[in-house]
Amino acid sequence: MGLQLLTVCYLVGSVTFILGLKMLSNPATARRGNLVAAAGMIIAVLGTIFLYHNAETGESLHNYGWIFGGLLIGGIIGTMAAKKVKMTAMPEMVSLFNGMGGACAALISLVEFNHLSAELAAGTTESSSVQSTVLIIVLGLIIGSVSFAGSIIAWGKLNGRVKDYSFKGQNILNLIFLAIAIGAAVYLVINPAHQMVLYIILVLSLLYGVLFVMPIGGADMPVVISLLNSFTGVAAACGGFLYDNKVMLTGGILVGAAGTLLTILMCKAMNRSLTNVLVGSFGGSHKNGDAAAAKAQGAYKEISVTDAAMVMSYANRVMIVPGYGLAVAQAQHICHELEKILEEKGVEVKYAIHPVAGRMPGHMNVLLAEADVSYDKLLEMEAANDEFKTTDAVLILGANDVVNPAAKNDPDSPIYGMPILEVEQAKTVIVNKRSMKPGYAGIENDLFFQPKTAMLFGDAKKVLQDLCAEIKAV
Ligand code: NDP
Repeated sequence: MGLQLLTVCYLVGSVTFILGLKMLSNPATARRGNLVAAAGMIIAVLGTIFLYHNAETGESLHNYGWIFGGLLIGGIIGTMAAKKVKMTAMPEMVSLFNGMGGACAALISLVEFNHLSAELAAGTTESSSVQSTVLIIVLGLIIGSVSFAGSIIAWGKLNGRVKDYSFKGQNILNLIFLAIAIGAAVYLVINPAHQMVLYIILVLSLLYGVLFVMPIGGADMPVVISLLNSFTGVAAACGGFLYDNKVMLTGGILVGAAGTLLTILMCKAMNRSLTNVLVGSFGGSHKNGDAAAAKAQGAYKEISVTDAAMVMSYANRVMIVPGYGLAVAQAQHICHELEKILEEKGVEVKYAIHPVAGRMPGHMNVLLAEADVSYDKLLEMEAANDEFKTTDAVLILGANDVVNPAAKNDPDSPIYGMPILEVEQAKTVIVNKRSMKPGYAGIENDLFFQPKTAMLFGDAKKVLQDLCAEIKAV
């Protein structure tokens, strides 16, 4: 009876994961999707704790003190971290949490190998199934350890504690580490009694995870995080195989597949292959950026808040391009206010959202949703690019790389090939940022020097407050 109920719990859990994931793909249903999937996870976890018992020994889980102690400590730390985190630091947190998932998968492998070794020594396990079990254990160990070490380095890089580091021949050394780890894994599958090899695999995988992420920098970090996320999913799926646990398997496969798809989509959004992202060190050294920044800047035009207010008030169509600076300034609410004021004056206002604007996928959608901006006003890149030609004024708020025409025109630029928002097709472009400093990729932006562009300097929130006041007065 207990086991049947547990199967129902797992079924409910699996279905909620799929439904939750589907709902996450639309900003209007994303919050609910998250809750649905979390509820499914709670059912699956509590079901396992209270209803599981071993089919052969009939034993149930009994170490409730450890289980609930761990749940409580983890729950408190997770809740506090989630409440405290700033929107701009979300990628760091995603990376850290992902690393924890990888570490769990690796720990499961270590623990289960010890169990297996004990059973082998006591002669209580069937030798026919040993090799397949060891294979799953080492797969989980390698993938989980790489994901853990890589995610921790990615976390350090995103919060500035770890600097990009690469040396000549690093990619070859990485491949050698990986090849030795795989070779050792094959050896262990054939000779499961040699427990020491397991720890060699662990160390090599951790080293590989560190070295693999160290040289990748700048604008490629989201792709790496998404890739590591898919690794964690696959490592968790290995745990599902190991325990013959359907909900763990479904969850792992879903995370693995979603992470892989997101990785592919982001590579497409930057028009680069995954290999190029992983071995290209784009943005890591910023060498090109420094060279470009050293280039004579030319002349740029400034615009006052009063003039910018005039331009927008008398426009028929205004397109707002939010970027990382909007998130830093926490200017999403006042931005929505500006939209409402302009619409009251009969101006049509829309938002152009670049897929990698900000510091994580979907960053701008989440931020604007928080300020109650209507979803149908948010245009994806392709749709926005079709509309710029008929737009009177574009207002860029703290965005830089995602509107840099070098991505289209300069084959030497590190962002060459990345699709961008083609704002220069609009009649007037107003760029709000605090200075002429470059954005994340560390490169100069020719858009700022074009005749139709005017710079509106200042913190995004303050500038928007002033703009709202001026437009009300027009
Ligand atoms: P950028 O980082 O290119 O530019 C942001 C600009 O905002 C800066 O030039 C800065 O200029 C300005 N800014 C900063 N603070 C403020 C403020 N308070 N008020 C006004 N302006 C401000 O951002 P984009 O959104 O254009 O591009 C995102 C970049 O980040 C891309 O290179 C992308 O690949 C990368 N990335 C994206 C991730 C994702 O998944 N979305 C994750 C990690 C990186 P100034 O200092 O002069 O004010």
